[in-house]
Amino acid sequence: MLFKISDSIASLKPYEAGKPLKALEREFNIHSAVKLASNENPLGFSPLVTQAVMKNLHGMNRYPEPVAHDLCRELARYHKVTPENIVLGNGSDDLIALLAHAYLNPGDQAMMPLPSFLMYEICVKTAKGIPVMVPLSGFDTPLAAMHGKISAKTRLVFVTNPFNPTGSIVTENAFATFLKQVPPDVLIVVDEAYMEFVREKTVYNSLKNPLADPRIVTLRTFSKAYGLAGFRIGYGIMDREVAEILNRIRQPFNVNGLAQVAAEAALSDQDFLKKASIRFMRESTI
Ligand SMILES: *Cc1c(COP(=O)(O)O)cnc(C)c1O
Repeated sequence: MLFKISDSIASLKPYEAGKPLKALEREFNIHSAVKLASNENPLGFSPLVTQAVMKNLHGMNRYPEPVAHDLCRELARYHKVTPENIVLGNGSDDLIALLAHAYLNPGDQAMMPLPSFLMYEICVKTAKGIPVMVPLSGFDTPLAAMHGKISAKTRLVFVTNPFNPTGSIVTENAFATFLKQVPPDVLIVVDEAYMEFVREKTVYNSLKNPLADPRIVTLRTFSKAYGLAGFRIGYGIMDREVAEILNRIRQPFNVNGLAQVAAEAALSDQDFLKKASIRFMRESTI
């Protein structure tokens, strides 16, 4: 082709999403297949979500709120932060992209384990940054090796906790040691997509003591434990100044209207969340 694409994007392979069930069943001429590839919650979502979505459906001729005021207020209350510390995304994927775009100049580095959730690499390269990938240590996040690779070019570090795909955790102690070693101008993106499922007491949960350090950006999602993957909504909790930057560059209507009301309803039903995550744990350990 004559059109010259950006060098950093030329090497990107498209994200391979788990195959949709219907496509798989067609391909192998089977039915009742069970889909495990994308970690969606098979137990679905709270009935309050259905009610809220039905009730608000008629209003969808209007643009959604650019900042979902009630949802941010409830999330702030839930996590004991202020609404100004919260940025919502069209899935937490959206927040990963915003962070890469906001904090990487061409040639800047973003560190991540290898293998990692693929969106880190895609977003970093799309933002013209350089992914620095550090092989896992067994099944664990290689924090010591990651520290060893931090350079003057490092702007972002991704820590997935618990880790996808191995399920291992970073402990409080291990994270505290790492935090001491990371320079003050490096953002640590702590992706806690599956934190609701963790029962290990020693786990580092960045929202136990939120905003303890301005370098820490926590990512959470409604896609997994809350069962809202199809709605596309996630959130980040971070220092106000970082939130202000991300809000400056995000699309004003990045979170659609139904996702906003679905998330608010899901958050309000903590009993469902508890049941879903406990039942899920039980079923998944069979
Ligand atoms: C599922 C997942 C996400 C978030 O997905 P969204 O649906 O975009 O919120 C983020 N990180 C990891 C490691 C995941 O597994």
